[in-house]
Amino acid sequence: MNSLQLARAHVLQQIQEACQQIHRDESTVTLLAVSKTHPSEALREMYAAEQRAFGENYLQEALDKMQALQDLSIEWHFIGHVQRNKTKHLAEKFAWVHGVDRLIIAERLSSQRESHPEPLNICVQVNIDAQESKDGCQPAEVAELVQQISRLPHLNLRGLMVIPAPNNPQAFIDAKQLFEDVRVQHAHPELWDTLSMGMSADMNDAIAAGSTMVRVGTALFGARDYLD
Ligand SMILES: *Cc1c(COP(=O)(O)O)cnc(C)c1O
Repeated sequence: MNSLQLARAHVLQQIQEACQQIHRDESTVTLLAVSKTHPSEALREMYAAEQRAFGENYLQEALDKMQALQDLSIEWHFIGHVQRNKTKHLAEKFAWVHGVDRLIIAERLSSQRESHPEPLNICVQVNIDAQESKDGCQPAEVAELVQQISRLPHLNLRGLMVIPAPNNPQAFIDAKQLFEDVRVQHAHPELWDTLSMGMSADMNDAIAAGSTMVRVGTALFGARDYLD
């Protein structure tokens, strides 16, 4: 195995162990490989190690990689901040958008997805631990957003996404509680199956609290050249 394959095997083992501790089946946690700042060749190698879901934060960088890797069947996730004037490319090119925190963004994504054969999967981003400078809606706004967004035609509203401050496991527990509480607001509750939380440093706590998708960059690809 090369070093990327080893890193992936190691992360999968960590997920497996975290699941075993709480008697969850490891297949209930998806590993999203966060590849921002890393070159297409690194994604290609990770793909050869059977990784299929990749997360990118910057639109232009992601579009360049999609072009370079168009021969692969990658499931592309956008996990960066969603700017209103960039929704068209997100709606047309990605399978998932995690950072939806306003109705207007969801409405634009839905109408711009219209000609695509599959609905766009989205998560509502919540500022679960009241950070001042963070994106995400307030926890108190989630119920109404779920009610409204779940009725839009070209989206599958799958769940919630959170990025709490470091060393705050309680935030994951709060997110899980909110995730369960607002399910009743969903027009199609059977689609509500995704809790996107946990990164390289805190994936164990996130899985213990009920994460179904961990977004892991550094532990798979190594340190990034610039911090995000
Ligand atoms: C960069 C990033 C990650 C990955 O973080 P690591 O600490 O490198 O695992 C996960 N989620 C989001 C939203 C990110 O921006």
